[in-house]
Amino acid sequence: MDTKRAARYPFLKESAEFAEKNSADLESLLTSESYAPARVRGRERVLQALENYEVSYVELMTDYDRLIEVMSYPYARMIVSLIGDRFLTKRYALAEAVRMNELLNKEDRETVLMVSEELGVSSAVARDGTIHMNFPDFLRLASRLNSVEWKLINSDIHHGVVYLPQDKFSRLMQNALQDKIESELPLMTPDEYKGYLAGDVTAVTMALADTKMKMSPTNGEGMKTEFLPPCLVHILEMSRNGLNLPHSARFAVVTFLKALGLGYEDIIKVFAESPDFDESKSEYQIKHIMGELSGGEGYSPPECKTMKTNGLCYNPDKLCEQEWMNHPLKYYRTKVKDKERNAQRPPENPAGPQ
Ligand code: SF4
Repeated sequence: MDTKRAARYPFLKESAEFAEKNSADLESLLTSESYAPARVRGRERVLQALENYEVSYVELMTDYDRLIEVMSYPYARMIVSLIGDRFLTKRYALAEAVRMNELLNKEDRETVLMVSEELGVSSAVARDGTIHMNFPDFLRLASRLNSVEWKLINSDIHHGVVYLPQDKFSRLMQNALQDKIESELPLMTPDEYKGYLAGDVTAVTMALADTKMKMSPTNGEGMKTEFLPPCLVHILEMSRNGLNLPHSARFAVVTFLKALGLGYEDIIKVFAESPDFDESKSEYQIKHIMGELSGGEGYSPPECKTMKTNGLCYNPDKLCEQEWMNHPLKYYRTKVKDKERNAQRPPENPAGPQ
C-alpha cells in the first residue's frame, strides 16, 4: 500500500483501505482525541476552498500524518454536506479538484492511470508517453474548457481515441473529480453525529456568509437606486406604472438584482409595486430565471450589447457612453466606487486658501 499516494488522493479506494487497516472509522474520527488533528485539517480544507479556491498540500513523512490527511477528507465532506449550500459544495469540489490537478501533473504514470480509473475514465499510456482516453470522455470533460487549445481541431485524435500530454490529461481529471464530488454531496449524516460537527459547521457557515458578502457588488447591502443604470431605472419605472414588460426586460431585472445579492423575497417585492402584480404568475418566472427550480446557478445579467439588441438600452447617459462601459453591473459598481472616492476626499476649506 502506498500511503503517500493515499494522502495525496484521499478519494482513492487505496485511501479507504489505509483507513480501514488502521481501524479509523467514522465514530472515532468524530469522537477520538487522536483524530482531533484530522478534524482541524478537515475544517481547514473547507475554509481554504472558500478563501483560496484551492486545498493546500504539504508532503507528509509519517504514516500517522498521512492517515490524518486521509481522514480529514471525509470530515470536510461532512461539514459541506451539513451546510447544504450549493455555492459551498461547488467551491469545495473545485478546490479539491484543483489540488489534485497540481499533484497529478507531476505524478508517475501508474498513479495517473489509477486516479483516472477511480474517476471513471479509462486511459492508457501510449508508446510516445502521451496518455490516451476515449473520445466521448474527452468530449464530456473538455467541452466546458473554452480556450483554443481545447478545440477539437487542436486535439490529437485517431480512431476514436484522444492523445494528451500529462498536464492536459490532469486538467481533464480536475473536471472529472469536481463532477464526482458534486454528484456525491450532500452525504447523509446520521443525526447522532451532527452534534460533534456543530462547532465546525458554524465556523464555516460564518466564513461562507462573509465570502458571499464580499462577492456581492454591493457588499451584501442590497440594491441602492441611486447607483442603478438608466436602463434598469426605466424598466423598473415601466413595471411600477403597470406597463407590460417584455420577457427580456423581466429577465434583465431579475438577473441584475440577483447579481447584486438580492434573494427571491426582495426581487418579488420590486415587481409587487406594479398595479397588476400577480404573484402566482411572477413566482414561477422569477424562480426559473434565478435557477431555484432547477437547482442550478441561474442566469447571468445581460451585457450592454445584448440590452441594446433587445431594445432595452434606455436613456444612456455620459457614463454609458464611456468606451469601456459594457455591462449594467459595471455601471452600478462604478457609481458605488465614485461615491466612496468622493466620501474619502477631505472637505474643502470654506474660507479658501490663507
Ligand atoms: S449603456 Fe448599458 S448600462 Fe447604460 S443604459 Fe445602456 S444597457 Fe444600460
